[in-house]
Amino acid sequence: MAIDATQPYDDSNIFARILRGEIPSKTVYDDEHALAFHDINPQAPTHILVIPKGAYVSWDDFSARASEAEIAGFVRAVGKVARDLGLVAPGYRLLANVGRDSHQEVPHLHVHLFAGRPLGPMLA
Ligand code: C5P
Repeated sequence: MAIDATQPYDDSNIFARILRGEIPSKTVYDDEHALAFHDINPQAPTHILVIPKGAYVSWDDFSARASEAEIAGFVRAVGKVARDLGLVAPGYRLLANVGRDSHQEVPHLHVHLFAGRPLGPMLA
């Protein structure tokens, strides 16, 4: 079910539980500011989710409240994951859903990284 991105952060969400180590994930990257892991329901040959370590509902919440260090650390982590996986030359797509109309389901900011095949034109 799609979430309301204006809701307060709920630390029982599934990605908060992954960050606390309560639920396993197939981790590909982990640092002070970000964790990246394989999506359990991949929509492309490579489908990684990159999440900030801090408690942010969405891109909106993160861009409004996160510190400069958190924002820089997270953005750099997303780029590093793609580089480390060798995705820059073939190319990749980043996507972050925010709220109801985007169909955001998990209320912890996550950036989807899709790669591994020609992805076609951008969806509206
Ligand atoms: O952007 P949205 O919130 O719709 O995406 C949530 C993503 O989280 C989905 O792609 C889903 O497959 C993924 N997911 C996951 N592990 C879970 C629960 C959801 O990778 N335990």
